[in-house]
Amino acid sequence: MRTFERSKQAFQRAKPLMPGGVNSAVRAYKSVGMDHGIYMNKGEGPYITDLDENTYIDYVQSWGPLILGHADPRVVDRLQETAALGTSFGTSHEMEAALAELVIDRVPSVEVVRFVNSGTEATMSALRLARGFTGRSKIVKMEGNYHGHGDSLLIKAGSGVATLGLPDSPGVPKGTASETLTVPYNDLESLSLVFEQFGDDIAAVILEPVAGNMNVVTPEEGYLEGVRKVTEDHGSLLIFDEVMTGFRVGYHSAQGKFGVTPDLTTLGKVIGGGLPVGAFGGRGDIMEQIAPSGPIYQAGTLSGNPLAMTAGYETLAQVTAEDYEQFERRGARLEEGLRSAAEKNGMPHHINRAGSMLGLFFTDEHVKNFETAKTSDVDLFARYFQEMLQEGISVAPSQFEGMFLSTKHDDDIIEETIAAAERVFARIGK
Ligand code: PLP
Repeated sequence: MRTFERSKQAFQRAKPLMPGGVNSAVRAYKSVGMDHGIYMNKGEGPYITDLDENTYIDYVQSWGPLILGHADPRVVDRLQETAALGTSFGTSHEMEAALAELVIDRVPSVEVVRFVNSGTEATMSALRLARGFTGRSKIVKMEGNYHGHGDSLLIKAGSGVATLGLPDSPGVPKGTASETLTVPYNDLESLSLVFEQFGDDIAAVILEPVAGNMNVVTPEEGYLEGVRKVTEDHGSLLIFDEVMTGFRVGYHSAQGKFGVTPDLTTLGKVIGGGLPVGAFGGRGDIMEQIAPSGPIYQAGTLSGNPLAMTAGYETLAQVTAEDYEQFERRGARLEEGLRSAAEKNGMPHHINRAGSMLGLFFTDEHVKNFETAKTSDVDLFARYFQEMLQEGISVAPSQFEGMFLSTKHDDDIIEETIAAAERVFARIGK
């Protein structure tokens, strides 16, 4: 039996010091019936080890960024070399352009890019840009999509907001909230209705091309194309929030995989290889409106700092097109293994997957939007989560987050995971 004594002690110390003892809400593990977080201490490839020396196969991978797994040797070496030269200069340096070239080369919509420090900053900045460029104020977002914690976007949001079952957050001004229109994901009809009513005022539609914050929900055939068309017809911009999907669901990100090109793209997670990095980019004529080329202001003390750029560059430079084929194959095997284990043990289940992102829901509904995602049995998920920990498998402490593979999750790791899930389903199923 794995125990968590040192994690418990660490959490007791932190509790009075930080709200809920944590610096990001879901880390308190409340929604999975635990009264303390788990304190991780070190990671290596697909594995992560906690303070009590319990080692797990890790499917959280820092909530997505670690596509090469934990502590990739080349990334770590280059970070050490870079840190020895200074961690931040507050001036330009060469790694910024190196990473920018790589991003522009791989992400179809991105002609010009600006680096920031988080996904939240990226989406906030992209919205300001879309509003400044179009001269319009309203934006449309999809229910259950999460775009960070900026005021305009914290409306009917997924991720931690959904995990904790919170209503839309206090502190978001009514005026700001009223400029955000929400429609269900995968629902072109509702989107068209909103455009019929407010089309001339809509600056942009922002969406996750594969939704990864209500667990994983994939776009239905023709959905992304339909959203592209509606925005074009009404002179609104289309923003793909690829903070999670960027460099994860395909070599050319989700937009390359699905062949739909937005006007602007936001990036984060993988692009920073485990350091705090976000980015927004897109059409050159729009991006040139950003200061100092244009009048729309955006800046950051630590934006594009050498450590962050190095981690991002050394990560992206190592992931090859073949790796994505491998992700597809291994992801498909994991999906099939989990499905048959669930079937065998009478577990309600629905699985969605895009490459190395996999979403296991404890419901028999076909999950295509937030409403159907919420039919998932969260109590059953909490039991599954705790039992998986005992089997040495770490998944995100939330029914509304997916599983992430890294290049280090090899065939044996996948088989081990399926075998562990079978044992867990046998204990908690029926
Ligand atoms: N956008 C998406 C799609 C995300 O998944 C997230 C974080 O999970 C964000 C934006 C916010 O990014 P960050 O947590 O780096 O601020």
